Amino acid sequence: MTELLFQRDSYIQDFNAVVTQVDPDNNAIILDRSAFYPGGGGQLPDSGTIKSGDSILQVKRARKAGPEILHIIEGEFEAPQIGEQVHGQLDWERRYQLMRTHTAMHILCGVIFRDYGASVTGGSMEPMSGRMDFEFETMRKELVEEIEAAINIEVNNARPLRVDILPREEAFQIPDLIRTKINLLPEGITEVRVVEIEGLDLQADGGTHVHNTSEVGQIEIPDYKSKGKINKRIYVRLTS
Ligand SMILES: [Zn+2]
Repeated sequence: MTELLFQRDSYIQDFNAVVTQVDPDNNAIILDRSAFYPGGGGQLPDSGTIKSGDSILQVKRARKAGPEILHIIEGEFEAPQIGEQVHGQLDWERRYQLMRTHTAMHILCGVIFRDYGASVTGGSMEPMSGRMDFEFETMRKELVEEIEAAINIEVNNARPLRVDILPREEAFQIPDLIRTKINLLPEGITEVRVVEIEGLDLQADGGTHVHNTSEVGQIEIPDYKSKGKINKRIYVRLTS
């Protein structure tokens, strides 16, 4: 079982770990602990390197496999020994961009729910841009500017983010979480990771976020699309 370092501290850029398995079928290495985010919840998996002895292995991407994280290596490599200590290093520029983008998406969710009562149904992101789908019947072109202004106010408000890992029962008591479809979580899950933008948004979420909305910087809404009477897709872009 891999200890998921990113769950409690999203700012870990590099870390020491011990090799627990080598998986030749997936050209992958498994470690006892990892800061590599394996993807999920609309956030892309991390890439980076693992230094083993004198060789630096390129991690193409991380991937979840049950309780483990596979670090999928680019090309052929000499397998490290089980029990060997290695050093992992994230492609931090890309990951930090993804953290800022992910937090921008939660700002958008929070503002749209607060101001229009519309719930999010899904989303995806790239570094510095993303899109989110809402059940937002009243969305129209004229609102783009209004929403853009409102989300940038929340960036400037410099709201702190908080991450908590709560027992399932406790998480289910939080009314704000119900609207983000927490009830869809599988039966077997006993803990729920909760990401809160203080005073704005609260979601069950496994992703990595910045500590404060001010780190996101200016957000633009370059476009939106109607995906039917109810469903609307809103695009966001970070400008710097
Ligand atoms: Zn999220």
